[in-house]
Amino acid sequence: MSKLSSTWGSALSDPQAYKQAVEAWEKKIGALIEFRLPGAAAVKGPLSGIPFAVKNNIAVKGWRLSCGSKMLSQIIAPYSASAVEKLQAAGAIVVGTANLDEFGMGSSCENSGIQATHNPWDQKRVPGGSSGGSAAAVAAGEVPFALGTDTGGSVRQPAAFCGVYGLKPSYGAVSRYGLTAYASSLETIGVVAKTVELTQAVFEAMRGRDENDQTSLDYKELSAREIKTIAVLKGLSGLTAGVQSVYDTTLEKLKADGYRLLEVELPALEYAAPAYYTIATAEASANLARFNGIRYGLRPYYAENPDDLVYESRTEGFGDEVKLRIMLGTFVLRSGFQEQFYMRAQRIRSAIKQELDAVFAQADILLTPVFPSQAFLHGDLSMDAFAQRAADKFTVTANLAGIPALSFPAGMADGLPVGLQVSAPAFGEARLFDFCRRFEASFPSPNCPGYMGPCGDSRRLS
Ligand code: GLN
Repeated sequence: MSKLSSTWGSALSDPQAYKQAVEAWEKKIGALIEFRLPGAAAVKGPLSGIPFAVKNNIAVKGWRLSCGSKMLSQIIAPYSASAVEKLQAAGAIVVGTANLDEFGMGSSCENSGIQATHNPWDQKRVPGGSSGGSAAAVAAGEVPFALGTDTGGSVRQPAAFCGVYGLKPSYGAVSRYGLTAYASSLETIGVVAKTVELTQAVFEAMRGRDENDQTSLDYKELSAREIKTIAVLKGLSGLTAGVQSVYDTTLEKLKADGYRLLEVELPALEYAAPAYYTIATAEASANLARFNGIRYGLRPYYAENPDDLVYESRTEGFGDEVKLRIMLGTFVLRSGFQEQFYMRAQRIRSAIKQELDAVFAQADILLTPVFPSQAFLHGDLSMDAFAQRAADKFTVTANLAGIPALSFPAGMADGLPVGLQVSAPAFGEARLFDFCRRFEASFPSPNCPGYMGPCGDSRRLS
């Protein structure tokens, strides 16, 4: 750990270095909503002096907490999330807040009510979402790591699109206190970072029981084991050529490295995205009820009475995707119909958990794609909102089951990164770090052209 802080801390000990990176990149990518140079010197700790950005649905005291929504664009956070406080206590310094799809709903950052974000590898493309600002900022070198949130893939998919690491921890491993809730039974605060080592150090500094979040748990790590058997999906299809080619090459590399690959079937995978969207929208419709212009949120001056105020506040304040999801969630929960939708989705959730238990009884980790495509173009019609939701099937399974999953840069196709995902049983994060550290040592991931962060030349595009 001390080695880590000296490597990263000294590389960025001059605040001007990352200020320059932000100035050079921000007009091209729009990853950050706010950027501020730190006033105070760093606290001594394992992350001393390391700057980071925070997805803007996580509270940082004194900073705007927009959640990517017009509804909250003027709100200033009165306190900091527990995860942020733990990182600050370990010496890390908040320097920015990162753009996102409104309330975390989306896969492209195009649902942000605040600004557009572009992929640093190709600015005509999306950075992914919903933690797209976090991933773009890390990929460009504006910060070495950023916090994101992952309800259905929102840390892992943008990490894959931007060629960096993205960890969704086990459910309950990291406190959610200070995270603006979207779908409480599915979501976690996660890490986007440039290296495996840093991903792990940040996770270790954040994890553990917090009395302000009753779903947070003491972290009891699964006993360590050498990774020998990797489960892979039988009959995988529907990937774009770029993702398929990197996936195939990765399997070859792993075989050559001595791993045993075990083909498994997850029949419930086909129902994962519908089950996820049923549960997530149901929870969102309840969680977002507080944004009504009275308790929280935009308060249009022209509203004439309380009913009108709620109507105008929500009409003005929410974007289309959020409105759609609130309506869907209200629909699936309406009286007399829970059995047909919500309970059915919960049964699929149980089936997915059981199928994954069976996989982990035979294999140490599971390797899958993160998303069927690489970063798509802004406005790509083949990737409309419906196609984006269906494409979440590989990531939502980990949220439905509460298990950890890590997206890692596995290779390049057509000049863009491809991320793949490894997952493990709950509290098995160490397995994911071990696997990725070994993979990274043999196949270092390139930096994007124009990268300005502290990662050395060994990572440059060859
Ligand atoms: N694409 C998913 C959604 O739109 C991911 C959300 C998330 O993880 N916050 O719900």
